[in-house]
Amino acid sequence: MVRISIPTLPLTPPLPPSALTKLPLKEAAAYLNTFLVKGKGKTVILSGAGVSVDSGIRAYRGKEGHYSNPNYKPILYHELVEETPRGEMFRKRYWARSFLGYPPVRDARPNPTHVYVAALQLLGLAPNLITQNVDNLHPKARSLLLESIPRNGGRRPHTVPPIVELHGTLAKVHCLHAKHEQPRDEYQAQLAKMNPVWEEMALEAERTGVRPRTNPDGDVELSGVDFSSFTVPPCTICEGEGRKERVVKPNVVFFGETLNPKVKDESLDLIANASQLLVLGTSLATYSAYRLVKQAVEEEKPVLMITTGPTRADKLDKVDKMDKRAGDVLRAYLDELVKTNTGPEVEAIRRCLDMGIVTPPPEVEGPRAEG
Ligand SMILES: [Zn+2]
Repeated sequence: MVRISIPTLPLTPPLPPSALTKLPLKEAAAYLNTFLVKGKGKTVILSGAGVSVDSGIRAYRGKEGHYSNPNYKPILYHELVEETPRGEMFRKRYWARSFLGYPPVRDARPNPTHVYVAALQLLGLAPNLITQNVDNLHPKARSLLLESIPRNGGRRPHTVPPIVELHGTLAKVHCLHAKHEQPRDEYQAQLAKMNPVWEEMALEAERTGVRPRTNPDGDVELSGVDFSSFTVPPCTICEGEGRKERVVKPNVVFFGETLNPKVKDESLDLIANASQLLVLGTSLATYSAYRLVKQAVEEEKPVLMITTGPTRADKLDKVDKMDKRAGDVLRAYLDELVKTNTGPEVEAIRRCLDMGIVTPPPEVEGPRAEG
């Protein structure tokens, strides 16, 4: 990536971590600026479910790290892949619920925080992003920003490194037999074709706007429904080769499943090559994310967390934590930045700052959830 200059604001003196949370927004933004400038364009961002709450995507875990819906029992990896009649039933249950639960996730729009994070990437302040979210909203926000930069001789002036989706993405599915990948929208169409009764149910939900409760993995809550009639389409490539592989799963990491080794290595390499880590909107409840923070601390790299509620990293004394909504601090910072800087990226960001859409979750229960 070619960078000529990194936009800056005046630096502020260092502060003890305990004082960070109490900072008024303007000072918090100034603190973030100092942090980013010190990172010299090698800050890595790690984000979590807290960033997507404003897009109507429910977080699994509430403030105390419990499931925000106590009745929700996620399907486990070993259940989904079991090559038995029991496994077959689990897959029917999963895909039937996921078929109905996917459209709201597919249609979800990036919220302001996604746009702000994309701005930090685009400005070269923190080009690399690792997310625990599987909702595809960071990539959508990044496209929004990139598309608003005028093309220069038919080429976009800047590229942004790919986003590392630690727990995968709902936008794709693959078969377990040969890892044949397929866009989720395509598989969704196959599901609809083979299950007209369920398709009718899905269309009804679209018409009435009354959607079943959706969990962040695109699974929905249904009671009194018989899943045994649901048909799970096989992998089309395997089928074309004469096999009848039934085990197709979304490209997301299930409970009880290990991370994709390539993605795990990419994330660890990014931390190894980073100058520092900015953690946004996550309680770091999953070990795969917490491990990255631990690695940064062990490598004596500065870590700044901006998130609300307790986190797994609170016991690490080398981690600076600002107990604030990440979007509020980022907005205050970017408002100041676009006032004092110019250039095509800054102009694009100024145009996009208000493009994020806040969508309330379908049902509100208890305190704001953070993942
Ligand atoms: Zn296949």
